[in-house]
Amino acid sequence: MPLVSMKPMLAEARRRGYAVGAFNTVDYGSCKAVLAAAEELRAPVIVQLSVKTIAYWSHGTIAAWMRELGERAAVPVALHVDHCKDVKVIEGCIAHGWTSVMIDASALPYEENLARSRQVVEMAAPHGIGVEAELGQIAGVEEDLSVTEQDAHLADPQKALAFCRALDLAAFAPAIGTAHGLYKGEPRIAFDRLEAISRGTETPLALHGGTGLSDEIIQRCIGLGCAKINISTQLKHSFVDGFVDYHRQNPKDYEPLKPIDAQYRAVKDLVAGYVRQFGGAGKAG
Ligand SMILES: [Zn+2]
Repeated sequence: MPLVSMKPMLAEARRRGYAVGAFNTVDYGSCKAVLAAAEELRAPVIVQLSVKTIAYWSHGTIAAWMRELGERAAVPVALHVDHCKDVKVIEGCIAHGWTSVMIDASALPYEENLARSRQVVEMAAPHGIGVEAELGQIAGVEEDLSVTEQDAHLADPQKALAFCRALDLAAFAPAIGTAHGLYKGEPRIAFDRLEAISRGTETPLALHGGTGLSDEIIQRCIGLGCAKINISTQLKHSFVDGFVDYHRQNPKDYEPLKPIDAQYRAVKDLVAGYVRQFGGAGKAG
């Protein structure tokens, strides 16, 4: 089927109490692996790419892979740009048929974040594109922005609710203590804030930094309205290790399709595990 906006997908997930996995892919093979896992499990899915990855391949190239893969898939698939601070990159996504975008103006003061996010919602709405926006700053290393855990600040629930009331978002990403990258200790999640936000808005919430969270934390977050869970770091590891491990085990084999296939299977298996964990299996109707 054609690529779809993540907006109705996430609204349904929040209503029915599961989360859609949003997987950060880096090339055609990883996109194909995510879709294959989703299709096998009859699950809706979000394929998301970083601004850095768009700069490497181009908007149009990625959209072409995804249109081709999406049209062959029998499950709803959204094509999303993750953590975009540049409205010009978002314009490129809209022009090339992407179905979903994240504006990350979270480093700006509240009013400026709101204004920038509103500008993107207004740009995207006529094209039926769903928008994700962030409040507070999610810790970790993302793109060229490095927010130390000390400096990262969590979303204020009152501001978060005002933000959600002001904008018609597909997903809202409040900083609640999860982080990008690999957790060094037990992550401390601000469940009190998440609960206050969840109680005050029906907007589907996006959980960033999904890699390394315990199942207990994940299920609790889904129960508190997190309908989109981002998996980036673990997918990068499976992508690289899948290829390298094959070559280590078969050092004389220089048939490239074999390590490429091992990489594909590693990513597909990883994605399938998360889709099951998030409750998405069988939800594609
Ligand atoms: Zn993130």
